[in-house]
Amino acid sequence: MEIRFADIELLRYKTPAFDTLSLNDKLYIYHLAKASLYGRDILWDQNCRYNLRIRWMLENILLDSTVSHDDAGWQSFLTYIRQVWFANGIHHHYSTDKFQPSFSREWLLQAWNSIPTEKHTPRLTAGEVSLLTDVITNPAIMPKRVSQKGGDLLQSSACNYYDETVTQHEAEEFYASLKKTAPNPDRPVMYGMNSRLERDDRGKLWENTYRIGGLYDKNIRLIAGELESARTYAQTPLQKKNIDLLLEFYRTGSLDAFDRYTISWIGETQGTIDFVNGFTEVYGDPLGLKASWEGYVNILDTEATHRTQVISQHAQWFEDHSPVDDRFKRRECHGVTALVVQAAILGGDLYPSSAIGINLPNSNWIRSVYGSKSVTIGNLTTAYNQAAKGNGFREEFIPNHDIRSLINRYGDICDDLHTDLHECLGHGSGQMLPGVDADALGVYASTIEEARADLFGLYYIADPKMYQLGLIPTPDAWHANYYTYMLGGIMTQLVRIQPGRDIEEAHMRNRALIGNWCLHNGDAMHLAHTDGKTTLEITDYQTLRRQIGTLLAEIQRIKSTGDFPAARNIVETYGVKVDPILHAEMLRRYEALDLAPYKGLINPRYTLVKDSDGNVTDVTVDYTETYDRQMLRYGRQYTAS
Ligand code: ZN
Repeated sequence: MEIRFADIELLRYKTPAFDTLSLNDKLYIYHLAKASLYGRDILWDQNCRYNLRIRWMLENILLDSTVSHDDAGWQSFLTYIRQVWFANGIHHHYSTDKFQPSFSREWLLQAWNSIPTEKHTPRLTAGEVSLLTDVITNPAIMPKRVSQKGGDLLQSSACNYYDETVTQHEAEEFYASLKKTAPNPDRPVMYGMNSRLERDDRGKLWENTYRIGGLYDKNIRLIAGELESARTYAQTPLQKKNIDLLLEFYRTGSLDAFDRYTISWIGETQGTIDFVNGFTEVYGDPLGLKASWEGYVNILDTEATHRTQVISQHAQWFEDHSPVDDRFKRRECHGVTALVVQAAILGGDLYPSSAIGINLPNSNWIRSVYGSKSVTIGNLTTAYNQAAKGNGFREEFIPNHDIRSLINRYGDICDDLHTDLHECLGHGSGQMLPGVDADALGVYASTIEEARADLFGLYYIADPKMYQLGLIPTPDAWHANYYTYMLGGIMTQLVRIQPGRDIEEAHMRNRALIGNWCLHNGDAMHLAHTDGKTTLEITDYQTLRRQIGTLLAEIQRIKSTGDFPAARNIVETYGVKVDPILHAEMLRRYEALDLAPYKGLINPRYTLVKDSDGNVTDVTVDYTETYDRQMLRYGRQYTAS
C-alpha cells in the first residue's frame, strides 16, 4: 500500500515488459503515454463544469497557503484534495455522490486568503472564489454527478455533457430525430458521443463537438501533437495508418471518421504495443450517449496470452453449446481477439481507478461485422492480488475452511479466467433480433450487458471443457470462483454502499442481480446465521450452475428482443434494493477489518535519457513517485490552461 485516505487505498503497478523493449518501442510508448495524460483536463471538465477551477484553487492552497498545518482543518483538507484528485472531480468516482468535506466554508476561505497575493492563481476572481467555496461546502449544490432515478435525469445530474437548461426530454428528442434521419440505419454512428449538447441564442439545440477548432481545442491539440510524435516510432504500417485516422477524427470530430478509425484499429494485431485514446465509455452520462475521455497504453504479455488464445480458438464451440435460445446465438463467431497485456500508463477515466479488463469497440454494428479487441490487464490484477493477501477479509467472510483453502489456492487463477471469459466471449456472444433498437433497454442496458457477460463466464468456467483444455488446474477449482462471486454479489459488495442507499453502479447491480436471483430461485445455496454473523453456504454447485444457465438464457432473451419491461423488472427486483439488516452487518464487520473498499493505481514515470549531444539513448521507467507528487505534476504538466 502506498497511501490510504477516506475509502481509498493507492497501490503501485509495475510494467516489467517495458525493460525488454527496443529503444524504438520505448519511444513509441513514451509519446503514447503523454498522449494518454494530456486528456486529463477534458475528463475533469466533463465530470462537472466547476472541477478544473476547484482543482486549481485546492492546489494553490496546498502549495502556498500559510494556515496552520497542525489543525484538524488542514487534515480534512488533505483528505479532501486527495479524494478530488482520485475522482477526477468533486464527486465520488463510484457512487457519484458529491464529497462532503469536514472543514467549514470559513476555514476554506481563510486558507485561500492566507495565500500571499502574488502567489494567488490569477484565474480566480473574488466572485468565483465565493461560488467555488459554496459548491465545495454546500451539500445541496450538485449533490450527484450521474443521477439514475427520479424526475429529469439531466437536471438532477452534475455532469457537464449538456447545457444546464437542456432537459432530458429535449435531449432524447434531439437524438431520436438524428437517429430517424440516419443515412445508414444498419450502421449507425455513435450519436452524441463526442459533443456537448448546447442551446444557441435563439433557443435551438446544437452539438458543440470535441475537436481541434471546437470544444477542448487546446487539449486535443496537445494530444494530437504527441500522437504525431508517436507515429514516427509505430511498429507496423497499420499502426501508422491508425494514428492518421485517429488524428483525422480529432481534426474533424466526424463520427464516420471515428468508425473508420475503429474498424482499422480492430484489424491491427501484428504489433505488441497498443493503445486507447479518446471518448470511450458512457457511464458518466445518465442517458448513456456521451463518452468520457480515457487513454491507456499496453504491452502484450505473450506467455499469458496463450490462455486467452485457447479460449478464443474455441469461441464457436462455446457459442454453439450455450444455454441460450438458438435464435439469439451468433452463427459465426469471429474477430474475437483475446490478449493479456501489461498496462504501461493509465489516463483519463482509467486513472487512478482502472478496469482490469477492456473490450472495445462499443459500437454494436462494428462489433458484429468486424469483431472486437479484448484485453485483460495482468499487471493490474497482480497489484490487486498482492494487496489482498493476508488482510483478514477471507477469514472473516469465508469461515468454511475447505472452500477458503480452495480459494486461497485457485481463486486468483479462476478470477483471471472468469475475466477472460467475460471479455473474450461474454460481450462478444449472442445477437440482436433484426429490427431491435440497440438502445431499447435504456437505463438498464449497462446492467443487462454486464450480467450477460458475467453469466457467460460463470456458465463456462464450470464446464468440463475448461479442465480438458488445461485452463483450470483441477476439475472443481471453479467452486472457488462461484463462491467468491456469489459472496460478493449477495453480501460483501454492500460495503461499498452508504447506509440507506440503493445499488446504482451497473457492475454492482449486475452482480447483485445474479447473486440474489440465484439465491431466491433455487436451493443450491442459502444464508446461514450463527453468532450474529451471516454466512453464505453453497451446498450444490452443479445445481447452481444450471441456475446460471437458466438466467443466462433469460438475460440474453431480454437483450436480443429489447424487452424493456423485463429488464426493468429483473434489475429492480434483484439488483437495486439492499436488505438494511444485512447491509448494516456487512458494514460493521468490514469496518472492524479496517480495509479500504476502493483501490487505485499510481502510474510509472517515464524519462528520456540523452547523451552529451542531446540524442535520446534510452527511456527509463521509475516506480517511486508518490501519489501527491504525481497528481501535482500532472496538474502542472498535462494541462492546456
Ligand atoms: Zn464487461
